[in-house]
Amino acid sequence: MKKILLKIALCALLLLAICSMARAQAPAFRVLAFYSTDVETDHVDFAMQAMKFYSKLAAEKHFVFDTTSNWGDLNDGKLKNYQVVVWLNEFPHNQVQRTAFEKFMENGGGWLGFHVSGYNDKTTKWPWFVAFLGATFYDNNWPPLPAKMIVDDNTHPATMRLPKAYVAPICEWYGWKPNPRDNKDIKVLVTLDPSNYPLGKKDVIRSGDIPVVWTNTKYKMLYMNMGHGDKNFDSDIQNRMFEDALMWAGTKK
Ligand code: ZN
Repeated sequence: MKKILLKIALCALLLLAICSMARAQAPAFRVLAFYSTDVETDHVDFAMQAMKFYSKLAAEKHFVFDTTSNWGDLNDGKLKNYQVVVWLNEFPHNQVQRTAFEKFMENGGGWLGFHVSGYNDKTTKWPWFVAFLGATFYDNNWPPLPAKMIVDDNTHPATMRLPKAYVAPICEWYGWKPNPRDNKDIKVLVTLDPSNYPLGKKDVIRSGDIPVVWTNTKYKMLYMNMGHGDKNFDSDIQNRMFEDALMWAGTKK
């Protein structure tokens, strides 16, 4: 009798352990990252490194980080399985994909966009995105260079672990017109330090207020201009922002 009772108790304990393990392993949130391989090599390099960086983080922080180079996956059916969408240096290719993304964001989805993902000009013809990002591409520096950053806001979860100033690794930096800072819904978190000017040789940024990282407070979104070349992950300081940005995007609004 005692033996049977002991067996039952052991089984119950085992069951409890399995249940708590399953609970512990339930992912905190699910991310789908989009990238492309048929774009500028420097943009592909970043995307590859970013996927490695975030896959490692996903294992540590127990969230799902799926990747796809099929932009057709930007559809309602697929997106309903995810809480966060990341664009690693690309953007939707057609109206169907654009509409699915709009719906995802309007319904409280999270988004991180890097570098050329924010690119839009007069040929883009996507007014929703211009309002969402709060900016249109204006100019850039060339060749890519490291640059001093001013951290405007340390209260946002994405920039909380950044110092007031730091040097960002080599990147191509974009200027914007309209300036996102002029948009009442935009909160600028990081800005290019004017002491960098003149920045570039072939293409030179000589002046101006250039936000680098910002969020549109109407959405769970964060845009980071970093993402050109294979040096972006060389800064342990900046990597904190890359980490914290995704963890923030994965928390409920
Ligand atoms: Zn670039």
